[in-house]
Amino acid sequence: HDTLEELYKPYLNKPVSEEILKAMKAQAKQVLESKFKEQLPTGGELVGKNLLAFEVAKSYVTKALNHDIRTVRSGQLITPLQLEEELSGAVQLNVNGENISVNLKGMADRIDRLSNGTIRMIDYKTGSFDKKTAIKFVDEFDSTKADHAFQLLTYLVMFSSTSSVDAVQPTVFYLRSQQVEFPITVSQEKVKLENEELLSYGKERVTELLSDLFRKETSFSQTEDQMVCGYCDFKEVCQR
Ligand code: SF4
Repeated sequence: HDTLEELYKPYLNKPVSEEILKAMKAQAKQVLESKFKEQLPTGGELVGKNLLAFEVAKSYVTKALNHDIRTVRSGQLITPLQLEEELSGAVQLNVNGENISVNLKGMADRIDRLSNGTIRMIDYKTGSFDKKTAIKFVDEFDSTKADHAFQLLTYLVMFSSTSSVDAVQPTVFYLRSQQVEFPITVSQEKVKLENEELLSYGKERVTELLSDLFRKETSFSQTEDQMVCGYCDFKEVCQR
């Protein structure tokens, strides 16, 4: 994340050409090395496990840049508008007659404007890519496999509180996958929701989920899959 941020930073609000992306690729190893060294203990060297992790990270950065080169070659210039910037926004709920305002916060890894005018909100993922990014039925959205889609639609809801969403595409870059880019799409009755419709859908689902959380009669039970608890931010509250 840090390496891609640093590589793109000089080009904020400027269209990035194929030549610039190739220059970024040439610089990537050096930037990544300096980012790795910041994380190593004093005197630590890029050997053994650290070197393996470095090589993996290098392949992810290269994949992201190669993907952007393909995008530019397809005729879409990329203008980075935001890098690792906080998004925030409020969602208004009415739960059992009570008005509740919920503040949301998140961090979009990168927001670009493409030359066709589309605002592309990107989240980089280095983990598994067996997730649902193309949601075809409303029920699919409740699947745990749709968590990345939910995350990106929540970002879209936050982004829309300060910017217009005339043409917007939330997307995940799965840096382990050859395809790299997996746009978040939602279709209802085989019709793909675009822009304002996608935003309305996102708002509906976020509002629904938050309302459920605030509804006193909704009960929650601990997951049976205790492996998940190892990564859970709420395990202390939950007393697992
Ligand atoms: S620790 Fe987290 S994942 Fe595990 S049961 Fe509690 S809330 Fe659910």
